[in-house]
Amino acid sequence: MDRRTTLLSLLARVGCRRPQPSGPVPAASAPSAAPDPISGKVVKSEAEWKKALGPDAFHVLREKGTEPAFSGAYHDAHEPALYACAGCGQRLFDSDHKFDSGTGWPSFYQPLTPKAVLEREDRSYGMVRTEVECARCDGHLGHVFDDGPKPTGLRYCINSLALQAVKKA
Ligand SMILES: [Zn+2]
Repeated sequence: MDRRTTLLSLLARVGCRRPQPSGPVPAASAPSAAPDPISGKVVKSEAEWKKALGPDAFHVLREKGTEPAFSGAYHDAHEPALYACAGCGQRLFDSDHKFDSGTGWPSFYQPLTPKAVLEREDRSYGMVRTEVECARCDGHLGHVFDDGPKPTGLRYCINSLALQAVKKA
């Protein structure tokens, strides 16, 4: 088998795995509780998350809830810290990028690294917003708006309940 044939047969096999756009989906391919194949992803069942997080953080992280303004632990925090995901521990934000937005939620002008978070369009409640999720466990963190300070002009508006402050080394 030459290189080209190998490539073609590989493509053909990948093509077979594409979801069919029409026709009924066999029950066997329905979503299951199997671990996510992407390495490093944290995947738990709803019951496991509930047990690990407690009701309030579960509501924010897994049900896309929002804590009441000024209610969280970190909106007025100024100590040097890294802010990790309360769900999976991934480092998400740095106190160096935190600013007082006056909104009552911890606000950052950028994540620790661009890869730490996922951003997706959120059209709930009749608004178009950009939702911010933890890239490792897909937990809902908050939203990002374009009315932040320099240098990015962004405002990551994050729920305290989704974060866990960790002392900087
Ligand atoms: Zn996470």
